[in-house]
Amino acid sequence: MGGNSTVTPVAQSKFLSEVERESGQRIMDCYQCGKCTAGCPSAASADVTPRQVMRGIQLGLAEEMLDNSMIWLCVSCQICTARCPCEIDIAKVMESLRLMATRQGRAKERDIALFHRLFLKSAEAGGRVWELGLGGFYNMSSGHLLANVGLLPSMLAKGKLEVLPHHNKKAKAAVKRIIERASLLEGK
Ligand code: SF4
Ligand code: SF4
Repeated sequence: MGGNSTVTPVAQSKFLSEVERESGQRIMDCYQCGKCTAGCPSAASADVTPRQVMRGIQLGLAEEMLDNSMIWLCVSCQICTARCPCEIDIAKVMESLRLMATRQGRAKERDIALFHRLFLKSAEAGGRVWELGLGGFYNMSSGHLLANVGLLPSMLAKGKLEVLPHHNKKAKAAVKRIIERASLLEGK
């Protein structure tokens, strides 16, 4: 480059601004070291890695970053967040992308989105998740009627599943407060 050349800053994309606002994270701080991806237990199964998600947001690739499987396979373990040298809460970014995708009705992994909804409903109804009911509702709603049915006899025999739903008033009230607080923060 010659001495008189100038660098013209690229305008920050609308999508990047939206993700930063939703997550409260400074996405442009990411310098692509890849530590988040190296520790991520879901990255190998997804179509893009956490590092690529961060780069995609920086580039304003809204469709690609809202339609990938990584944001749905993320299990919120926060290993990426703990590893990031820039102190970016990547797990929070993943969560923000899930929320944005859901609001736009474009959850790529619809079964996972369905599972999330049923999980929360189950926790809200009884104060903690009733696994047997959750599995049953999930199989019926997703159309995977026989998914994991073969595991039922041994899990029941070992006492790993409760036959009846839980109804703990105290826990139910606590979950209700958490959901109300979350709704308030989301501006619902
Ligand atoms: S929080 Fe999600 S993206 Fe981060 S390491 Fe865990 S699974 Fe991967
Ligand atoms: S660990 Fe942080 S800086 Fe490194 S690639 Fe991931 S988000 Fe970017």
